[in-house]
Amino acid sequence: MSAATSPAASLEALDVLIVGGGPVGASAAALLQIATKDSRRPLRIAVLEPKRPATTPPDAPLDARVSALSRASERILTAIGAWPLMPGSRMQPYERMRVWHESVQPRSSDVLEFDAAYAGEPNLGYIVENRLVQTAALASFEAAGGKVIVGELSRLRVQDHHVQLETSAGTFTCSLVVGADGARSLVRESIGLTVEMSRYHQTAIVCNVRTELPHERTAWQRFLRAGTLAFLPLADGCSSIVWSADDPVAAPLLAMSQSDFAQELLRQSDGVLGAAKLRTERLSFPLYKLTAHRFTAHRCALIGDAAHVVHPLAGQGVNLGLLDAAALCELICAACRVREDPGAQSVLRHYERWRKSEIEPIALAIDGFNRYLAHGVGPLSRIAQRGLALVNRSDEVKRFFITRALGLDGELPEIARRPASASSSLLS
Ligand SMILES: Cc1cc2nc3c(=O)[nH]c(=O)nc-3n(C[C@H](O)[C@H](O)[C@H](O)COP(=O)(O)OP(=O)(O)OC[C@H]3O[C@@H](n4cnc5c(N)ncnc54)[C@H](O)[C@@H]3O)c2cc1C
Repeated sequence: MSAATSPAASLEALDVLIVGGGPVGASAAALLQIATKDSRRPLRIAVLEPKRPATTPPDAPLDARVSALSRASERILTAIGAWPLMPGSRMQPYERMRVWHESVQPRSSDVLEFDAAYAGEPNLGYIVENRLVQTAALASFEAAGGKVIVGELSRLRVQDHHVQLETSAGTFTCSLVVGADGARSLVRESIGLTVEMSRYHQTAIVCNVRTELPHERTAWQRFLRAGTLAFLPLADGCSSIVWSADDPVAAPLLAMSQSDFAQELLRQSDGVLGAAKLRTERLSFPLYKLTAHRFTAHRCALIGDAAHVVHPLAGQGVNLGLLDAAALCELICAACRVREDPGAQSVLRHYERWRKSEIEPIALAIDGFNRYLAHGVGPLSRIAQRGLALVNRSDEVKRFFITRALGLDGELPEIARRPASASSSLLS
């Protein structure tokens, strides 16, 4: 049953309302809906999303907003049936990563290379458009009987036994609110959860380019003294660039003509893929690190960017968010099996402990990469830069990093631990 609800409609009381149907909120909704739809008392679940993207025509040019999805994410998206909805012609598996500092030659032995084959894997992950993940996850949710409400949260009031939400599509009550409404989460703000935030004083410039040389199914990343420049391989043979540049460098890069920008790209990539032609407009994103001090409050939980934002250099944001979604869903399902309320304190406390202890060290490590590899000329930076070449000489250390890149270490939710198969008895 497909049931997108228009602004004039209103809903009865819900068990779970997920505010924000981005890639993370939509996947959380599909996980919960599929896992509980055949139980004795199926949960009433809805997603509130104001900007649902239209389905992408198969021959539309690739969008500039893409993410590198890990193996763990692939497993989660397969289990909800979203993976097969994303056309293979728009998804690029990448088999290698080549990472180097600007002080070394891009094709020398000092370049750190991670090859999926070292870990006996076919690839390290896939480069996929964000909107494709979002539309596929929403479609899976609806196919399992879930409701997408087209509307925006305006106010939220937490009471002892339920939460009341005022939205542009009416007023709703639920036992549990999941805030998946992104970095500027109104859910987080409304329930008074504070954050630790630090600006990187960097801007990510994103666009798709066609390069003279083929991308070789490889993600290329060069650490510069004033930022990081990455080329991610796309399914149409082009590459998506993510240039995280210090603000004083980024401003002129955004203002210059396309051809001057392409020249700069050639220079700053040390010509690794030859000359580039821009295929999309340049988009820009101010970069910051954000972690909510608490991920939960009475009858509320935060997931994805609403709970934590990390620097894009490690391509982890969506991947960490999907693990939040799977962890929360696993705990809610366990509670429902013993007839406990999905918004019970025990569920929320467990979720917070679990995901905070996973996220914090990762966010710290990503911060360190940016601080010492992409910047700095001090002794620590020099050690970090030499470290790249040392890591390259140890297969064991490389395997450790590959497992991390695949998203397969740490305390994983059950669904991310096993090879993917679409299943209606998910989490049972
Ligand atoms: C340049 C760049 C490159 C990146 N590359 C990668 C990568 O390679 N791999 C990776 O894993 N991550 C990457 N990320 C991070 C990734 O984009 C984010 O982590 C991800 O989009 C977060 O998803 P989300 O669903 O939590 O939030 P969002 O995508 O922000 O979605 C939030 C949703 O909430 C909705 N919403 C907002 N306010 C309200 C409201 N009041 N009421 C109802 N709904 C609301 C919005 O419409 C939106 O749909 C990158 C980020 C950047 C900036």
